[in-house]
Amino acid sequence: MNMHSYRDLKEKVIDNGYCIGCGACLSADGVNGTNELDSYGMFKPSFNDLDAPISDVCPFFTSRNESELGEMLFSGFEGIKQNEFLGYYIETYAGYVRKDDFRKRGSSGGFVTWILSRLLEERLIDAVIHVKPSGKKGILFEYGISSDLEELRKGAKSKYYPVEFSEVLAEVRKTRKKYAFVGVPCFVKAMRLLCINDKEFADRVSSFVGLVCGHLKSSRFSEMLAWQKGVKPEDLRGIDFRWKYPSGPASEYGIKISGEKNGEMVTITEKANSFYGYNWGYGFFKYKACDYCDDVVSETADVSVGDAWLPEYLNDSGGTNVVIVRNPVIKKIVDLGIKESTLKLDVLDPEEIVKSQEGGFRHRKDLLVYRIALLKNHGIWFPQKRVEPSLDNLDIRYRKITFLRTQLAEKSHLAFKEALRTDDFEVFQEQMQSLVEKYDSLYKRSFASKALSKIKRFFRSE
Ligand SMILES: Cc1cc2nc3c(=O)[nH]c(=O)nc-3n(C[C@H](O)[C@H](O)[C@H](O)COP(=O)(O)OP(=O)(O)OC[C@H]3O[C@@H](n4cnc5c(N)ncnc54)[C@H](O)[C@@H]3O)c2cc1C
Ligand code: SF4
Ligand code: SF4
Repeated sequence: MNMHSYRDLKEKVIDNGYCIGCGACLSADGVNGTNELDSYGMFKPSFNDLDAPISDVCPFFTSRNESELGEMLFSGFEGIKQNEFLGYYIETYAGYVRKDDFRKRGSSGGFVTWILSRLLEERLIDAVIHVKPSGKKGILFEYGISSDLEELRKGAKSKYYPVEFSEVLAEVRKTRKKYAFVGVPCFVKAMRLLCINDKEFADRVSSFVGLVCGHLKSSRFSEMLAWQKGVKPEDLRGIDFRWKYPSGPASEYGIKISGEKNGEMVTITEKANSFYGYNWGYGFFKYKACDYCDDVVSETADVSVGDAWLPEYLNDSGGTNVVIVRNPVIKKIVDLGIKESTLKLDVLDPEEIVKSQEGGFRHRKDLLVYRIALLKNHGIWFPQKRVEPSLDNLDIRYRKITFLRTQLAEKSHLAFKEALRTDDFEVFQEQMQSLVEKYDSLYKRSFASKALSKIKRFFRSE
């Protein structure tokens, strides 16, 4: 029996900054509280009765890790295999959807919206819980429910934006429908834990589609992108983080911003790498929780989907997915899709999938070992992880990178707040500059040393 109270959850997870704001703790039956965006643009729950007992639903407070949940969910399936980084899998693929405009409208290959549409068509589910544009003032995206293909399509594309699901789950509880749930790994884990602890959710949520995840951003990320192009935070109306150009590498996608500029509605589309602060490595506006997470590929989902960031797929501007199938029902639908040529999906070695997320695994496995060791040394509580803390195995360059990434994320939240207070975007840039330069210099040096060793290798082979 779980003896923890909401006070424990608040003191350990929320006050220490490990909360991702998912809202699972507010979705348990009979809990009173709220989950609202704080002044940094991140969801933060609060509870009316801190002494009430809490069920085991928080992805950062539970002692049940993704490997244990994966074993419970998938180990009994025929043909199931295991990979150290991907968890359980029946088959792994790379490719895209050929049919209709799923690919064109999707972030990468359009597989997520396609598989959800097939689950609806086959009547395996009645509706989908996923993230869509919001109708609320000042909020760009939120979890919602889609019951048909048209609604589903409106929710396509990745939202690097804070979301929570307690509001939508209150609706789910009132119905007797069957749902598929879409989320980043920690949200999928939270939803799985809710189903384990709550029969009403277990009866309703039957399919889990997971996204590969680098990290989540506060709402200030969108505002930073818009403000530097002249659209002030309060005038931002919409953003497409993954605008596709008809040619060029898939990784060189654009960002499309809609909002008011000098009193007129404008739409601005520019390459993502032309925006200050877009570099994913800087981790601007990253939730702290993301630095204490070790599930990169949604190991508890029936199917996980990401971008094929691999040289053989990068040149296709249309976008290519990596897909990890863990559930035989999904496998059957995928097999049929391949047979009917609806899907252009090739079996891809799991090690290649791991390679496609090399940076993500390094940050969330090797560098996590170091981050939690630092906390342990200072006697600070941290969520249970599948890696052991150690200060020994990381070279000096990666120690510096780890340290700077933490500083960059922390500073970005504070510096943007100051920019908002002074109504001046340059304040943000000025305050970030020295950390950005230090971080960049670590990568430049590494480039130089790589070039040097290449030259040395060349002369040795002559
Ligand atoms: C925060 C975030 C970080 C990511 N990081 C990586 C990464 O490091 N590496 C990688 O390979 N892939 C990453 N992805 C996944 C990738 O961007 C694509 O979403 C994935 O390849 C699916 O593309 P698609 O074309 O098949 O999906 P689409 O057909 O475009 O459908 C996307 C689906 O995901 C849902 N969705 C979008 N944003 C969210 C959200 N924030 N929370 C829950 N559901 C959402 C939409 O509602 C839609 O149903 C990330 C996605 C997100 C949201
Ligand atoms: S991570 Fe989710 S479940 Fe845990 S405290 Fe935050 S909102 Fe609640
Ligand atoms: S990095 Fe981990 S904690 Fe952060 S949003 Fe992604 S899955 Fe959740």
